[in-house]
Amino acid sequence: MKILPIITIPNPILKQSSFHVQEITKETKDLIENLKATLHAHPRCVGIAAVQVGILQRIIIVDVAQSLKEHRNNGLLVMINPDIKYCSGEISSREGCLSVPNFVGNVVRKKKIEVEYLNINGDKQELKTSGFEAIVIQHEIDHLNGKVFLDRVISLNTDVFRREN
Ligand SMILES: [Zn+2]
Repeated sequence: MKILPIITIPNPILKQSSFHVQEITKETKDLIENLKATLHAHPRCVGIAAVQVGILQRIIIVDVAQSLKEHRNNGLLVMINPDIKYCSGEISSREGCLSVPNFVGNVVRKKKIEVEYLNINGDKQELKTSGFEAIVIQHEIDHLNGKVFLDRVISLNTDVFRREN
């Protein structure tokens, strides 16, 4: 397992759409292991998309289990070609991102989602989730569509703040 360097804004790769994974190969599995290591190397980090290490494949990893924000969760989720099939409600929260160092922002997301994806064995999965886990999944799927949270805030003047560390 290798910790990979994170690409940050304004790198244009972050604005590109990622490609669907056609086949889960040994390289895909190695990439997923490296993404997990990279995610867990950053304390408080709850999700990562492959594009954040420069690889334009529709793969995200979400793990909110260690977060203080939410106790209900599904642990470590590896999602290949994730697709939101249904969503409802709205929820606003403060988001940050490894690719947007130094800033956080208020973003409105869907409260509940139903997401379809492939697991690491290529089996089709369906997950219904809500709250913080759902927010993180939406944030990571945005990366696959070339968006970062700054593209979602209503106002760059009033909804983006310097990170307090
Ligand atoms: Zn992000």
